[in-house]
Amino acid sequence: MSTPTAQPENLMEAIVSLAKRRGFVFPSSEIYGGLNGFFDYGPMGVELKKNIRDCWWNDMVRRRDDVVGIETSIIMHPKVWQASGHVDGFTDPLVDCKASKQRFRADQLFFSPVVIDGEVKGYVSALESEDTVGALQTAAEAFKRKKALQGALAPVVAKDMTEAAPEEIAQIPSPATGEPGSLTPPRAFNMMFETNVGAMRDASSVSYLRPETAQGMFVDFKNVVDTGRVKLPFGIAQTGKSFRNEITPRNFIFRSREFEQMEVQFFIHEDDDWAKWHRYWIDWCIDWLRSIGLPDTHLSEYDHLKEKLAFYSKGTTDIMFKFPFGVQELWGIAARGNYDLTQHEKASGVPQAIFDEASKKKFIPHVIEPSVGLDRIFLAVLTAAYAEEPVTDEKGNTEIRTVLRLSPRIAPVKVAVFPLLKNKEALVERAKALHKKLQRRYAVFYDEVGNIGKRYRRQDEIGTPYCVTIDFDTIEKEGDTFTLRERDSMAQRRVTEAELFALLDETVY
Ligand code: ATP
Repeated sequence: MSTPTAQPENLMEAIVSLAKRRGFVFPSSEIYGGLNGFFDYGPMGVELKKNIRDCWWNDMVRRRDDVVGIETSIIMHPKVWQASGHVDGFTDPLVDCKASKQRFRADQLFFSPVVIDGEVKGYVSALESEDTVGALQTAAEAFKRKKALQGALAPVVAKDMTEAAPEEIAQIPSPATGEPGSLTPPRAFNMMFETNVGAMRDASSVSYLRPETAQGMFVDFKNVVDTGRVKLPFGIAQTGKSFRNEITPRNFIFRSREFEQMEVQFFIHEDDDWAKWHRYWIDWCIDWLRSIGLPDTHLSEYDHLKEKLAFYSKGTTDIMFKFPFGVQELWGIAARGNYDLTQHEKASGVPQAIFDEASKKKFIPHVIEPSVGLDRIFLAVLTAAYAEEPVTDEKGNTEIRTVLRLSPRIAPVKVAVFPLLKNKEALVERAKALHKKLQRRYAVFYDEVGNIGKRYRRQDEIGTPYCVTIDFDTIEKEGDTFTLRERDSMAQRRVTEAELFALLDETVY
């Protein structure tokens, strides 16, 4: 018997611990102390990640007639990044703490004056969190107590360091030391990783690890048009690694320095209704997230403010996800006009306009860009799937089972096969035969160690949706049926091999 899904108070801690324990995610180079912002995916993680990527690729590219896929190189001509604006503008505002040598993103470091009876008595600071204002208020109260100040404390007014006046900066305490005087004014920090191509290490050989996959689609636009038999509207998609030297990588794999993106540039006629296509892609992305098991309760939309958009941008909407550390961007859907192709035409001298047969017009197409991080989806699915719930067996014993309620579409193992007993040859033989047959199509796990209950628990923890047990009825009774146990309901029923394959065929796609 199972009670409704329960999540522990410290969900992030539980997820990080499970990820390590069951081989989903490890810190990179762990035996050397790890490297901040880099992660490795273990045997379970690599399957889960591949399944998410494959689902996206199948739904986005193979099952659509208007999107084609490509794979472009990670290191591209440095002029690509000049034309795209990344060399000059791909920056985050950085604040140094001279005392601790720590660095902070200015837009994540908040401060407030401490105002008592209408007079500024000092400043407090806090790093962005789910309750930044609460943290500042607590700090302001502590400030008042520590300095034994009398009078009425005004509510704090949170601003980030990009909004700090020069005279305020000297008075804002560093979050590292708690003391004022060590923070520098914000400066632009370019997040691209530099490298050198070829044997010479000078300015002429500088290149970059790509900070996004998107530019590959723009730079190859003409190649695809000339060879791909595409006509407007159509998309070019790719998945692959991107690199950003984030100032403060954090929240596990949410913000890392090496991550994987899944991006599409969907090109439309210059006269087409961009808002209609923008909406179309927002809806498509939300539906797709649902199809891999993310619940509506965790999803929302955020429209970027018009005045904060780049001059060429017509609109950007982020699909937000309720992570344990707050509601954060999961997927950005941007209407970018024809800015990128125009920039590359100017910088390369190679015309990017195409002739549209239907309208008999020649123009540079406009683009809608849905862009998502694979690692972020990975974290989102773990967040939504993780549960710890009390279960009571037939003898009345209650224990907590940890279960990942992953969609069968993305679960790392689709089905586990157990012989009831490992010392009964007939059971083992039948189980191994089934295992082999299933393996041709699915990721399957064979387990004969420990009692059945323990084996179920091991599979629950990695999110295996189905377990089948070969028992005495299988080999002694007619019909060759097995016990099928479903992860979520824990209900058991007898099925034939054909029924098992039909179930997998329907739920794993
Ligand atoms: P953020 O504001 O979170 O830094 P962004 O707006 O710069 O993100 P985009 O440049 O639009 O992000 O990148 C598209 C997608 O790539 C994001 O929606 C996110 O899913 C993913 N992404 C971006 N940066 C990272 C990162 N450092 N680690 C993991 N995923 C990332």
